Amino acid sequence: MTKLYAIYGASGCGRSLMPVARQQLAREQDPSEIVFIDDAQTAITTVNAHRAMNYASFLAEPAAQKQVLIAIANSQVREKIANRLEADGIQLWSVMADNVVLMDDAQIAAGAALSPFVTITSNIKIGKCFHANLYSYVEHDCVIGDFVTFAPGVKCNGNIHIQDHAYIGAGAMIKQGTPEQPLVIGRGAIVGMGAVVTKSVPAGVTVVGNPARIVESR
Ligand code: UDP
Repeated sequence: MTKLYAIYGASGCGRSLMPVARQQLAREQDPSEIVFIDDAQTAITTVNAHRAMNYASFLAEPAAQKQVLIAIANSQVREKIANRLEADGIQLWSVMADNVVLMDDAQIAAGAALSPFVTITSNIKIGKCFHANLYSYVEHDCVIGDFVTFAPGVKCNGNIHIQDHAYIGAGAMIKQGTPEQPLVIGRGAIVGMGAVVTKSVPAGVTVVGNPARIVESR
């Protein structure tokens, strides 16, 4: 059965994840092709030696089985595309770099992208289409929702709950919670680059600084 894999998004995120996807297939000794899907493509071209095409062209490809990693940082776009793939019967693909460290009982839902040097320790649950960029870690007993995004170098300590669509900026550090009282990052919250988060963050707000404080909207 012919298989075809794709990285959805041929911009920064997608071009960084393509080599991770190649490592994934090499590990599995799967010789199948990986293409880029990008809706900005008007014709089939080549990006970093991989065929690149729009979604309609991808659907027209003859492969019997297709799997797609959505490599777009914007979580709302990831959700929209995930729904479209599901409606079209195309599976979400998860990829991880060769040097990712996964400890015990890390349950990670479909569509995850774990970049080089990511560590996920023990007893962790992670939802759909999670992005953990370079050098991020997730420590014990964390619960992470769907469509959560970690920029590079996020330090997510133990007993933290991160709700759907939250975005954690590069180098941010989140203080550990306790089993009785996890530190919670609310749905859709944004944690700024380099922030030091010492207490729970409500849904939808942006926090920055050390200690992280809510940026008031004017
Ligand atoms: N894109 C797409 N379909 C969509 C939305 C976005 O193919 O419905 C593509 C878009 O053309 C662009 C990429 O996804 O090439 C997003 O790139 P961007 O530079 O905005 O972000 P990043 O690569 O950092 O996620």
